Amino acid sequence: MITIITRDLGVITAFVRGVKSIKSKRGSATSLLSFSNFSLELKGDTYTVNEASINKVFFGAGSDIITLTVAQYFCELCNVFRPYENESEEFLRLVLNSLHFLTENKRSPELIKAITELRVAVIAGYAPNIVACDACGKFEDTVMYFKLDDGTLYCKDCYKENCVSITLTVLQAMRHIVYSKFEQLYSFEIPETAAKELSKLSERYITYQTEHKFTTLEFLRGII
Ligand SMILES: [Zn+2]
Repeated sequence: MITIITRDLGVITAFVRGVKSIKSKRGSATSLLSFSNFSLELKGDTYTVNEASINKVFFGAGSDIITLTVAQYFCELCNVFRPYENESEEFLRLVLNSLHFLTENKRSPELIKAITELRVAVIAGYAPNIVACDACGKFEDTVMYFKLDDGTLYCKDCYKENCVSITLTVLQAMRHIVYSKFEQLYSFEIPETAAKELSKLSERYITYQTEHKFTTLEFLRGII
């Protein structure tokens, strides 16, 4: 049985027969981190893969343990958020692009991870409100504070409990990720130290919002 994030049907599970055969074309098209075309049959509420042809396998994900773990974390995000049918295409597009940038080593894994986490939150209806301080409307301060439980932003005069401090660089990156058009989503760079700070913050936000213990994330934190 495999899990597929589809363009139109959300996340589904489907049975595949004959994958153990080395000659089976369905074998590679249904392996982990493959982008494939599927012909599915629905009986009752069970899908079966009749045909599958491969478009792309993200081989680069296996090149090192951090890249592979982040790629598997993206799969876990799909499984936990399980996008509705109307969100599915945008979700799939995000995951495919993130896997591309991740496996081609075009950006740091921490940055791609943060982009994916925050944008997944936006698609799934958990978008943070980070335009300005939620209390007084101040747009920027030397340090701003992000409230993890409801995703609001505060300046240092309006600081609330359960907030984490964020630098202006991280705030600008967050605003870009949350509010930019998809075409511009990956078109920015920040220093690696800021990318790590951003990644920790987006991870805490996702974990707080879902109340889910991501096993791939725990593994990742054990190796970096
Ligand atoms: Zn304020």
